[in-house]
Amino acid sequence: MRGKMKAIVKEQRAPGAILKEVPVPEIGDLEVLIQVKATSICGTDVHIYTWDEWSESRVKPPYVFGHEFAGIVVEKGKLVNNVEVGDHVSAETHIVCGHCPQCLTGQAHICANTEIIGVDRDGCFAEYVALPAENLWKNDRELSFEEASVQEPFGNAVHTVLEGDVTGKTVAVIGCGPIGIMAVGVAKAAGASQVIAFDLNNYRLDLAEKMGATRTVNSGVENPLEVVRKLTENNGVDVVCEMSGHPIAMDQGFKMVTNGGRVSILSLPVKPVEIDVTNDIVFKGITVQGITGRKMYETWQQVSGLLGSGQVDLKPMITHHFPLEDFEKGFDLMIEGKCGKVVLHP
Ligand SMILES: [Zn+2]
Ligand SMILES: [Zn+2]
Repeated sequence: MRGKMKAIVKEQRAPGAILKEVPVPEIGDLEVLIQVKATSICGTDVHIYTWDEWSESRVKPPYVFGHEFAGIVVEKGKLVNNVEVGDHVSAETHIVCGHCPQCLTGQAHICANTEIIGVDRDGCFAEYVALPAENLWKNDRELSFEEASVQEPFGNAVHTVLEGDVTGKTVAVIGCGPIGIMAVGVAKAAGASQVIAFDLNNYRLDLAEKMGATRTVNSGVENPLEVVRKLTENNGVDVVCEMSGHPIAMDQGFKMVTNGGRVSILSLPVKPVEIDVTNDIVFKGITVQGITGRKMYETWQQVSGLLGSGQVDLKPMITHHFPLEDFEKGFDLMIEGKCGKVVLHP
């Protein structure tokens, strides 16, 4: 029989999670079983762990959560032919339907019927995870499991920054959580002339600087709009990557973007946000983009190219490692914000 494995289980509709033994998952003909070597904690996992309003409305305990990982294929279904046992893999975490209008027109990242690993079905905070083979991304064996485990959120950063031109342009990254910090590295690698990073957390601003920010701004200490005016000869920045979800910071983003510029929003504000549409969008002629997930699989190719070539080095922002058993320490760090990416090792 298949035996048991250790997993972090969201057991109850309440804050917290527990480590327990659960059965190793069975796989279908089109699925693979992956031995998880490294799994990183995402902001989404923190929402589920702390049990906020969003998770209360979305997730259905008990189940195994976690979605960012790297591992090795240990078993494959009868009909799987895109990977072999022994391959190093990560996965696109959005499982899409393949038949809605978006899927049929090459826009599967906005599939109307998306299921997310570790949110809507069992995830990877475990020794093994079972997944549809078509969601796998084969990793270069040279890439460490730690770095490979953060490719999924790195893909969010890549998708946001590269959804328009950045070469030779001024880029503001508002909100330096792990994805914001990675966005700094992407903008820098893509040839932005200035990368200005904003946050209230100096620990994370230091990481943004390590990833290549040309200027970091603690928005609680300096006025972001004044800083941008000075750095851009009153023009404003060409591109704003909004990663904070904070209403004041978002409004500042729309105010600091130059006429004809772009605001790409990856963050998820918890409430409707007030924006001066007339003056800050229409009269400025800017482009506003909502960014969700990663383009399948254009973004993954960009991710592999940027990491494989060394154009972006994610090591400085992977700040903590724990065995799976010590997951609570990892979550505490994430809640405090005293970390970059936290990686757990099953
Ligand atoms: Zn994530
Ligand atoms: Zn679809």
